[in-house]
Amino acid sequence: MGNQNSENLHHLLVLQDLQGTRAIPLEAATLSIGRDDKNAIAINSPSVSRQHAILLRISLPDSQEHVFQIIDGNFQGQPSTNGILINGKKITAHHLQHGDVIQFSNQAQAKYYIIPDLSDENLLKIAEGEDFSENRLQEPSPFDTLIGSTDQRQEFSEAAIIRLASFPELIPNPIIEINSLGELTYSNPEAMLQFPRLRELGLEHPVLANLLSLIKEETAVQLIREIEVRGKIFEQAIHYIEESNLIRSFLTDITARKQGEISLMQRDQLLQGVTIAVTSLLIEPNLNTAINQALKLVGEGAKVDRVCLFKNHSHSLSEKIAMSMGYEWFNHHIVSASIDHPHWQDQPYHTFSEGKWYNNLSENEPITKTRSEFSSDEAEIFSLDQTQSFLLVPIFLNQYFWGYLGFYDCQQSRQWTASEQAVLVMLATSVSGALQRKKTENLIQYRALHDTLTQLPNRRLFEQEINNALNDFDKKTQQLAVLFLDLDRFKVINDTLGHTVGDKLLQEVARRLIKSIQPAEIVARWGGDEFVLLLPQASLKHVITTAEAILKAVEVVFSLEGHELYITTSIGITLVDQQNRDPEILLRQADTALYGAKEKGKNQYQFYTDLVNQKLPQKLMLERYLRKALANEELTLYYQPKINMLTREMDGLEALLRWHQPEIGFVSPNLFIPVAEEIGLIVQIGEWVLRTACAQSKAWQKAGFPPIVVSVNLSPRQFCQPGLEEMVTGILAETGLEPRYLELEITESIAIANGELTKQVLEDLHAHGVRISIDDFGTGHSSLSRLHSLPLDTLKIDQSFVRDLTTDSKIPHIIQAITTLGQQLGLNIVAEGVENQEQLDFLDGIKCDSVQGFFFYEPIPSTEVLEILKKMIS
Ligand code: C2E
Ligand code: CA
Ligand code: CA
Repeated sequence: MGNQNSENLHHLLVLQDLQGTRAIPLEAATLSIGRDDKNAIAINSPSVSRQHAILLRISLPDSQEHVFQIIDGNFQGQPSTNGILINGKKITAHHLQHGDVIQFSNQAQAKYYIIPDLSDENLLKIAEGEDFSENRLQEPSPFDTLIGSTDQRQEFSEAAIIRLASFPELIPNPIIEINSLGELTYSNPEAMLQFPRLRELGLEHPVLANLLSLIKEETAVQLIREIEVRGKIFEQAIHYIEESNLIRSFLTDITARKQGEISLMQRDQLLQGVTIAVTSLLIEPNLNTAINQALKLVGEGAKVDRVCLFKNHSHSLSEKIAMSMGYEWFNHHIVSASIDHPHWQDQPYHTFSEGKWYNNLSENEPITKTRSEFSSDEAEIFSLDQTQSFLLVPIFLNQYFWGYLGFYDCQQSRQWTASEQAVLVMLATSVSGALQRKKTENLIQYRALHDTLTQLPNRRLFEQEINNALNDFDKKTQQLAVLFLDLDRFKVINDTLGHTVGDKLLQEVARRLIKSIQPAEIVARWGGDEFVLLLPQASLKHVITTAEAILKAVEVVFSLEGHELYITTSIGITLVDQQNRDPEILLRQADTALYGAKEKGKNQYQFYTDLVNQKLPQKLMLERYLRKALANEELTLYYQPKINMLTREMDGLEALLRWHQPEIGFVSPNLFIPVAEEIGLIVQIGEWVLRTACAQSKAWQKAGFPPIVVSVNLSPRQFCQPGLEEMVTGILAETGLEPRYLELEITESIAIANGELTKQVLEDLHAHGVRISIDDFGTGHSSLSRLHSLPLDTLKIDQSFVRDLTTDSKIPHIIQAITTLGQQLGLNIVAEGVENQEQLDFLDGIKCDSVQGFFFYEPIPSTEVLEILKKMIS
C-alpha cells in the first residue's frame, strides 16, 4: 500500500450518530466537523459541539501521499466542550491512521479508513460479491487489515462496518436493485442523492422504467442503456441476478462526456465548414459565389443565425467612413434577410458607440457584445434584426481596414467562445486572401485589356465591348454608333518633337476624349494615333453632337513641354443597322469613313452611309491597305512568257504585279493599280517593280541562262514623274542589267498624251538602249501614223481584238492591217491574250511575231520561269 500512488487511495470516514450510519469520503483539504449544519461533516448529536473538530489534509514529505490530522476545536482554536477520543485516548490533535476510531460523544463516533481505488468495473464486481473471495485470496484487501486491527471496544459491530464500508455505499455511482415485482430492494446513498423521487415514482421513474420488460425480452444477463434524469444523462448498466431474482443497475453520470461529445461534434462540424469555406475561397473563381458559400458554411457550422460581410467606404453624403453590407447568410428558419435594409447600407461608423466600432476594428480588435451590453444606438438598430448578441472581426486588405465580418445570434445572448472567434478571424483572413487574389487578377486583366500609355481600353477590350453591345442590341430601342478617329499630322509631331512629346500628346488627347463622352460610352486606343469610340443607345443627333465636341476638344491648343501644339482630328462614323452586326465590318466601315473624312480635307467627321452613296468605300479600303502593302511585303512579281511564232520558244517575259492582301486575299492589278495611281503610291511601287524585275533578269543571266528581255509596265503617273530617266538608268546600273534587255510598256493613251514631253522622255530612255513597247494597242483609237514619230520597238495588240477574233468578222482584218503596218514600221508585233489554237493559227497565218496568252502560259512566279529557262538550254 505504501508504494501506491496517493491518487489511488481514498480517505474515508464512516460516521455513526443519531441519524444513522454513513460513509463520508474525505475529499477536501480542510473539513469541519460539528453539530451545526454548516459544517462539512454535520453530526446529529446534542452532546457534540457546534463546531467540534477540524480535519486537515497533510501531504507527506517526499511522497505524493497524504494523511489527515484531526484537531479538537474550531478554526478559531476554541476546543470542543466534550473533547475527542481516539481509540479511547483523549487528544487535542492526532494524525489519523487507518482503522482509528474517533469518538465525538456517546452517541457519535466514526472510523477512519484508507482504501485503494479500483476501476468502476472492479468495484462493481466486488460490490456484487462475485469475486470478492478470490480477490481476497490474491491480494490482501484493506478490509482484512481493518478487521484485524479493529479495536474491540468500538461500539458498532464489524459486520456493520463491513456493510457500511462496502463499496456500493461508498462509490459515487448510483446503484439500485429491484426484485422481479419491481419493488426497490436496495439503493445506495448516491442513488438517493441523484434520484430523490425514486421511491415515490417507483417503476415510473426513468431509472426503473421498462426495466422488467427489458430483462424479460433480453436473454443476456447484462445490458446497457442511456437514460436522462433531471437534465443529466446516465449510462445504466443492468444486471439480472438469477439466483436472487434481482435486477441490479449501476449508473454512471455521462452528462459531461455527452456534452463533450456534442461540443466536439459541433466543433468538428464548424471546423469542417471552415475548411470547405476556406478552400472555396481559394479555388472558386467567382468571388461572389465563393464568399456567399463561405458565409453559409461557417454560419451553419457555428450555428449562428446570421453571418454578414461589410465593406468600408466613404459615406455618400458626409464622406465620413461608413460601411455597407455586401454579403449575408442567414438562418431562414429563424430570421429574414437584412442586407437590403437601409440601416445596413451606407451607414457611418460613428453611428455605433460613438465611433468605438471603427476604433476597435481598425485596431484589429474584435467586438463582442450581448444584448445587456448594447449601447442605446446598437440596441435600436439591432432590434430591427432581432440580434441578441454579435461578434465582429475586421478584414484587412494590404494592411488597410477594408471591412468586417459579423456573427449574429438572434435567439440567445450568446457568449462567444474563443473557437468561434478564431473561426471568424480565419474566415476574415481567407476573405482577405480571396479579395487580394481577385485584385491581382483584376489588375492582370486590366493590364491585358488596357493601353499602358493612355490607360484607355485597348483593342481587345473594345472588341469585347462592341460584341457585348451588339448582343444586346435591339434596333427598336437602340442606335449604336462606332467612331474611328485618327489625329491629323500626328506623325509630323512625333517625328519632329520626339516620342516623349508624342506620348504626352496622346495622353492628353485621351483625357479630352473621355471628357467628350458619356459614362456608358467607350473610348479605346486602337493603336498609334488611332482611337475608337462606341456609343451604345445613341441617337443620330447625339452622335453628331459627340463628333463635333471631339473635333472642338482636340482643336484646343496643347501646351506640352514648352510647345504649343495645334492639331486636328478626323472621324469616321458608322451606325449599326439590322444587317450589319459584324463588329469587324463595323470597324472597317468606320475606318473607311475616316479616310473619307481625311480625303475631304481633315478636321471633320464623315458618315459611312454617305460614302456608300458616293460608291467610294471599296476604293478607300484598298487605298488604306495599299499604303501598307509595300512595307508589309505583300507585293510580288509574276512573269508571263511571250512566245516567238517562228521558234515557238520563249522570247520575252512581262513582269506583272501581284498583291496578296492578308485580309482580302488576291487583289487584281486592274483594281489596285488605278488606286495606287490616284494616291501617287504607284511611283514607289513602280520603282520596286522595276528594280525587282531587273534584278531577277540579271540573276537568270548570271545563272548562265541566255539573256531574255523583260517588259515592265509603266503607269501614266509614273511616266509623268520627273526623274524617270534617272530612276531607270539608276536601277539598271544598280542591278547591272544591260538596257537592251529591259523593255518598258506604256499604254497608247500615255504615248499620245503630252505630245512633245512624252516623245522626249521616250527618246531619252531609248537613247540609253532601253526598249519601248506600246501596250493595249487598239484601245486608244489612235492612228499608227501618230505613233510613228516615237522611238518604239514593240507593239502589243490588245487582247480584246484577239478575244473577238472569231466572233467579229471585222477583227481579223484589223489585226492583219496592224501587223502588216507595224512590221513595215520596223516594229515587233505581239498579240496578247491568246487562249486557243484557232487564235494562234490565225496569228500564225498573218505572220505575227510573238504571242502572249493563257494558251501558252499564265503569269507565273519566277521559280516556274526558271524551269522554262532550264528546258530551253537542255
Ligand atoms: P496588261 O499590261 O495588259 O497585262 C496583261 C494582262 O492580261 C494581265 O493581267 C495578264 O494576266 C492578262 N492576260 C494574259 N494572257 C491572258 C489570256 O490569255 N487571257 C486573259 N483573259 N488575260 C490574259 P493582269 O496581270 O491582271 O494585269 C492587269 C493589268 O494591270 C495589266 O494589263 C497592266 O495594265 C496592269 N499591271 C500589271 N502589273 C503592272 C505593273 O507592274 N505596273 C503597272 N504600271 N501596271 C501593271
Ligand atoms: Ca502590259
Ligand atoms: Ca496589255
